[in-house]
Amino acid sequence: MTEPRIGLIGLGTMGRALTLNIAENAEPLAVYNRTTERTHEFMAQTRASEPALAERILPAETLLEFVDSLSSPRAIIIMVDAGPAVDKVIADLRPLLNDEDLIIDAGNANFHDTNRRAAEAEQQGVPFIGMGVSGGEEGARHGPSIMGGGPKDHWDRVAGVLQAISAKYQGTPCATWMGTGGAGHFVKAVHNGIEYADMQMIAETYGIFRDGKRRDAAAIGAVFAKWNEGPLQSYLVEISGKVATATDPETGKPMLDIILDRAGQKGTGRWTVIEAQHLGAAIPVIEAAVLARNTSAQLDRRQRGEHVFGPAPAPLPHDTLADATLEGAMIAGKIMCYAQGFDLLAAASGHFGWRLPMPDVARVWREGCIIRSTMLNDMATALADSPDENLIFAPFFRALIEKHIPDLRETVAMAQMHGLAVPALSAALSWFDMMRTGRSTANMIQGQRDFFGAHGFERTDKDGKGFHGPWAMNG
Ligand code: NDP
Repeated sequence: MTEPRIGLIGLGTMGRALTLNIAENAEPLAVYNRTTERTHEFMAQTRASEPALAERILPAETLLEFVDSLSSPRAIIIMVDAGPAVDKVIADLRPLLNDEDLIIDAGNANFHDTNRRAAEAEQQGVPFIGMGVSGGEEGARHGPSIMGGGPKDHWDRVAGVLQAISAKYQGTPCATWMGTGGAGHFVKAVHNGIEYADMQMIAETYGIFRDGKRRDAAAIGAVFAKWNEGPLQSYLVEISGKVATATDPETGKPMLDIILDRAGQKGTGRWTVIEAQHLGAAIPVIEAAVLARNTSAQLDRRQRGEHVFGPAPAPLPHDTLADATLEGAMIAGKIMCYAQGFDLLAAASGHFGWRLPMPDVARVWREGCIIRSTMLNDMATALADSPDENLIFAPFFRALIEKHIPDLRETVAMAQMHGLAVPALSAALSWFDMMRTGRSTANMIQGQRDFFGAHGFERTDKDGKGFHGPWAMNG
């Protein structure tokens, strides 16, 4: 093998899959892992299962051997645990590299860390790219969605390789440069926030079927499978149908009936919500999804609540909430959620000076990633037509909203009347109702603020700020 230009550090789940993908679809590469046994085990497995690919992978036992095995200018992808491990690997690598080389962090970094590492890289001389990779192990192996951030000229240097290994949407690679510094990792975090929300809305609809309509898991799975052939076509609806129809080989029961209702998280959804608060962006559907995961973790308390207050007064009356109504509610909820996600991206783009390419964000999510769906193609078109407009005002989505808001309203109203928790769907509806209320109730808030804190307000009938109410004179 001639000296490879690409190296990869970290042969965990994602690193192994990405290594095989690069070897198969791009070029030969060198690999290194902190624990050498893992490298040996990976190479032995690959030689046995995919000998042609093993020929294109050069394993190294030490970091120095790894760096020396690469031809300059090197491009080194780090795929290790996000956080201090990345700083440690960079600190070990930097003395061995020069300013022609490139370090790419492909883990799920917090974009603040990526901004810091980008700034350190500028001072210390080895260029740095922060790259969000979505699609899980399967995506990493056969085509992930890739969101890059950092110096554009260095991205361009490796773009060919990244596009070759990425997912393709009708032939277009899903690997795009989003902006400088932490832009790529920020877009990935928002992707994950939307993923939380999409999953939550599907779970809430499942709950209405299960508790409100007393439908069994297989029947619910069949509905999701049908929906996956319509406007809701997406990876998440597809796998939800498969999850619902699967049977536990041990007990013969539906898998969903034996999975404990306590959801985990690695924190990317939470980061999205925290950043939205910092930026003053409204993303209530994503917030509701994070809240729902947090609440799911309080299993004992929820069980006590059911014991003390009694379960929800379900089922729903027989003739309410037709399947088509629930499908319409999901369509409307999904549009609200994405509209909020893109609003957050726009807020961050302005604040951090990234100029995020909004249509390209939608395009890069069309394949390879967890939130891939048919609707994202329509979103890309809408954002290309009017990049600064909220998605709900784009003609295509406006028509869908007008058609399906009654479904969302009926679904949320019936669920709430019958005590079925639908935090994400109801957040979508409340946000929509706020967005179409020209005269909100914030005049009362301003009156209250002026009353207790003399904060001043604007008037509807005069220009200027800092007006006060009569309570100031009386007080
Ligand atoms: P794994 O737990 O499978 O592997 C972790 C890897 O990190 C191992 O190679 C481990 O090496 C290495 N590592 C940990 N600490 C250090 C350290 N201090 N110095 C050097 N190497 C270290 O993780 P994944 O492959 O699942 O995830 C890797 C990254 O990809 C994470 O940032 C994750 O969030 C992100 N990601 C994961 C996805 C997934 O679906 N799993 C999807 C998208 C992104 P060792 O063998 O020596 O322990």
